[in-house]
Amino acid sequence: MICRICQNDLPETKFNPGAKTCRKCMVEKAKLRPEYHMKKALNNAKYRCENPNTDSYARYGAKGIKYQIDPDEFCEIFRDKWKAMMDAGQRPSIDRIDPSKDYVMDNIRIVEHKDNIREGNLNMQIAWLKKRKISKPCKDCQKVFPCTREHFHPKGKRKDGSPIFGPRCKACHRAYMNKRAKERGYWDRRDRTKRERR
Ligand SMILES: [Zn+2]
Ligand SMILES: [Zn+2]
Repeated sequence: MICRICQNDLPETKFNPGAKTCRKCMVEKAKLRPEYHMKKALNNAKYRCENPNTDSYARYGAKGIKYQIDPDEFCEIFRDKWKAMMDAGQRPSIDRIDPSKDYVMDNIRIVEHKDNIREGNLNMQIAWLKKRKISKPCKDCQKVFPCTREHFHPKGKRKDGSPIFGPRCKACHRAYMNKRAKERGYWDRRDRTKRERR
């Protein structure tokens, strides 16, 4: 079965029932939607309050901070703001207006992540910038992919350590390299040397 996005021929186990897109591509596609990141941020807030195994539990759940947010209501109210910030290249995060009070709808707002770092955790922010996923279209097939190593070949690094990606998606890059090798007679040469060795 051929995935509509990555065009790979994959076994049916890689697809959800009835889907024409493989599960991996579906996740990548979901990552482009604000809801994916909003629910992730909510989950993190929930864990901070309810899961003693998380590092930040000491500063939340252990101090009696409770999590009482309905994800659907949250997405409905904050979706536009969240998306606008994502489009502007910012990292939105959930901030409690009164830090001594719970995660409840009346006590939260959306702020840029760097404004939300009370403990000054700069490393976390840098780590996020490095793995920030922005998408771009492939030069050849024009399909839009997230800028990750999975989809593009890295071509070097910027000063901040983030990778620079080549213009073509991996499939097109492979096709392009093969075509170029053929044009330059690489395969002919290799076949000839093989024949001579025999
Ligand atoms: Zn796919
Ligand atoms: Zn392509």
